[in-house]
Amino acid sequence: MLTLDKYSIGVGDRFAHQARPQLAACMKASEKGVDVVPVWNKSYREHSIVGSEPMSARNAADQAVASLGWKRNYFVDADHINIDNVGGFLDACDFYTIDVASAISSPVGLAEIAAFLRRHPEMTRSIEVPGLDAPVHLSSETTMRMASKYLCAASEAGRIYRHIESHKGAGNFITEVSMDETDLPQTPPELLIILAAIADEHIPVQTIAPKFTGRFNKGVDYEGDAAQFEREFSSDIAVIAYAVSHYGLPANLKLSVHSGSDKFSIYPAIRRSLEKSGAGVHLKTAGTTWLEEIIGLAEAGGDGLALAKQVYAEAFANREALCAPYAAVIDIDPARLPEPTQVEGWTSQEFTNALRHDSSCPAYNPRMRQLLHVGYKVAAKMGARYLDMLEACEESIARNVTLNLYERHIARVFPS
Ligand SMILES: [Zn+2]
Repeated sequence: MLTLDKYSIGVGDRFAHQARPQLAACMKASEKGVDVVPVWNKSYREHSIVGSEPMSARNAADQAVASLGWKRNYFVDADHINIDNVGGFLDACDFYTIDVASAISSPVGLAEIAAFLRRHPEMTRSIEVPGLDAPVHLSSETTMRMASKYLCAASEAGRIYRHIESHKGAGNFITEVSMDETDLPQTPPELLIILAAIADEHIPVQTIAPKFTGRFNKGVDYEGDAAQFEREFSSDIAVIAYAVSHYGLPANLKLSVHSGSDKFSIYPAIRRSLEKSGAGVHLKTAGTTWLEEIIGLAEAGGDGLALAKQVYAEAFANREALCAPYAAVIDIDPARLPEPTQVEGWTSQEFTNALRHDSSCPAYNPRMRQLLHVGYKVAAKMGARYLDMLEACEESIARNVTLNLYERHIARVFPS
């Protein structure tokens, strides 16, 4: 059976040009004794916006692996797929993030809820979960309420899983189930019920992405109570270990942190929880690499800098349309975005200081960073002009992509 390693990092690569410098970051980790495998993830939404096909992500990954001689595992993730769009990913991918957030709270029949309770009499009373300070408080009423909220999502995950399995064969792909793109966080007791329901569907889930407490805005730091996050994250790890031993889920099942890139203030909490429990984690970083492309262009100066400024100016002009699909995961005060006329006069350093995620730098502008994070459609529309410039400025881009991924992400999250 295809098995996901203990530590893995989701690396998004919008324009399929940075697989090599991304892989170089994992190789650097490996030299330092930390084994982290790359998973190239790209969603249907990203492919549609960029105008690319899933096979392009597969080819970029395969080529990077061949050219750098990477010997460990690597995967290509059909990120956030559902039953309607999974078809296009069946040949290219060996990792599927089955997104069932939209099925949460969909109605289920009383008979199904009753059947769940019959299968799980242990969930009608409190459960002692090793590693938790207090038992998980459950009763028939609370379990019925939570089951009615999540059973539909679990059965939808089962339907999508079986569809993929019928094409690829059991054991030939990694399965993740995600419920993160929703408003309310899932508590550890809810996670336990979700996992029991997923096990009932016979889904060999290897990673699960709940919605955690706090805001996971794209490309910027976490907003919320880091101490509460740490308690919740540790509790989720304990609940997963319990579900593995009681419900027959794969032994390597672990948490997946979505929009995980740049959540610097909770990286120490994640790392401590992993060290304490010995658990693994999957960290999805997605758009952080695309921002390094823009930083690399700006750093190169000349035409590269001019193109970076143009991308910003167009993103600024189209900010409402660009932000709309990402409303739940960005917070931008438009009044605090720099005017394109002002940016026009910036040097390379002024541009990169504003964009690079270094909160100790007074010029760092998280509004600008979030806008560009969701602004890749602008670059996609430039087509060959943008891609040619990526190649012309390859040195500065690759250097920034590798450094960002290794120094700011891998080295901070994964225990050595
Ligand atoms: Zn996600």
